[in-house]
Amino acid sequence: MVDLLQPDDAGYDDARQVWNTMVDRRPAVIARCGGVDDVRAALAYARERGLEVGVRCGGHSIVGHAVPDGGVMLDLTPMGSVRVDPERRRAWVQGGALLGALDAATQPHGLATTAGNVSHTGVGGLTLGGGMGWLARRFGLSCDNVVAFEMVTASGEVVRASTDDNAELAWGLRGGGGNFGVVTEFEFALHDTGTQALSVELDFAAEAATGVLRTWRDLSAEAPREATYAATVAGGVATLGFVWVGDVDAGQAHVERLRALGTPTARRVVPQSYVDLQRRDDMTRGHTFRRYWKGHYFRELSDGVIDAFVAHHPEVGASLQQYGGAIADVADDATAFSQRDAAFEYVGAARWTDPAEDEQRIADARESAARLSPYASGVYVNALADEGAAGLTRAYPPANLDRLRALKTQWDPDNVFHLNQNIPPAAG
Ligand SMILES: Cc1cc2nc3c(=O)[nH]c(=O)nc-3n(C[C@H](O)[C@H](O)[C@H](O)COP(=O)(O)OP(=O)(O)OC[C@H]3O[C@@H](n4cnc5c(N)ncnc54)[C@H](O)[C@@H]3O)c2cc1C
Repeated sequence: MVDLLQPDDAGYDDARQVWNTMVDRRPAVIARCGGVDDVRAALAYARERGLEVGVRCGGHSIVGHAVPDGGVMLDLTPMGSVRVDPERRRAWVQGGALLGALDAATQPHGLATTAGNVSHTGVGGLTLGGGMGWLARRFGLSCDNVVAFEMVTASGEVVRASTDDNAELAWGLRGGGGNFGVVTEFEFALHDTGTQALSVELDFAAEAATGVLRTWRDLSAEAPREATYAATVAGGVATLGFVWVGDVDAGQAHVERLRALGTPTARRVVPQSYVDLQRRDDMTRGHTFRRYWKGHYFRELSDGVIDAFVAHHPEVGASLQQYGGAIADVADDATAFSQRDAAFEYVGAARWTDPAEDEQRIADARESAARLSPYASGVYVNALADEGAAGLTRAYPPANLDRLRALKTQWDPDNVFHLNQNIPPAAG
């Protein structure tokens, strides 16, 4: 029997809380799913009663898509386990697992696959939208590393999607988000990554930021795939450098190139385990803030992009992370994720605690991102917040949106799974 939590039950309030504290919705029922049968039972329960369905993995959706007001939240967090076969270099990851569980299971074997930069993010939402991380320039996005998906459909069927089974569905699950069903298991290919990494961050005063960012951009164009260049501007400080996963001595040698940037106000060159790198950006108080963000992709960091990036609102944390490498090796129409020509991803994120500031903080983030809009080539679907249908046309080219809509019509014609960056089915 699936464990159902209702508003008066112990644990209900904890279970409905997600990353962004602006999300304060109250599901009628939270179904704590422990496996495929629970997912099927909870879906049937919701559909028989005509209740909205939300699907929760790591709860990091910025707009809290997982939590339906008055509906049924399929809470996959009890499905958090990861099984590894080091010989075959495969990991089987349940649909509610966090990235930290994936790394913890693979790293004792010196193996890993691409996962995001914060260990408390969910494998589910991240992978279904694409999945960017420090290994992506070497091994592709998380979605590129999925060998097979096990999915419960809107009608309660259990299907497999891979290159050999339901290949078009597998195409859509690689970047199309949670539109088609509940993924109960991901089978990932693993890579021999070793266990060491190097994190390089140099701080510069805001006045120096434009010049150093231009030099850093020029250096990034020559970066080997072990390196992922990253930069932030926040609170009057520009922090730039790269993350290296691979031979650390080679990474240290690459640090020498950054001398071209001049003298920083602070310098952090930190050899660390890959697992620690993957927790570097974790935030212990992360789940206590109200939040909003906007994202863009850029094919190049022109001087105009850099000027607008530096001119960011001081309260909005702005970041750039490098793409390219193995991400761009994959053909643009090979997966639903279709921003393979992006050179960098930008996110401008605001966080605050006082609800009275909501309007102003959201406006600041929008204004900062709007300055960069003229240069943008698109957006990462997982960086979309409240842009609605217009956001989808930024995330996917028309041909991919057409294919995604056809898949949606086939697999979820009643749009049961609509609490996501929703691709509506064709009208029946
Ligand atoms: C602190 C932070 C750091 C981040 N870092 C990165 C990063 O490094 N790289 C990157 O690519 N992205 C990153 N993201 C963005 C992240 O990929 C998205 O926020 C993603 O939606 C999070 O997935 P989740 O499972 O944690 O969220 P949830 O809110 O649980 O899920 C989001 C949506 O995904 C769908 N979904 C989730 N699991 C399943 C499943 N098993 N089956 C079907 N549908 C499912 C549902 O539609 C759900 O509404 C980050 C986000 C945050 C907040």
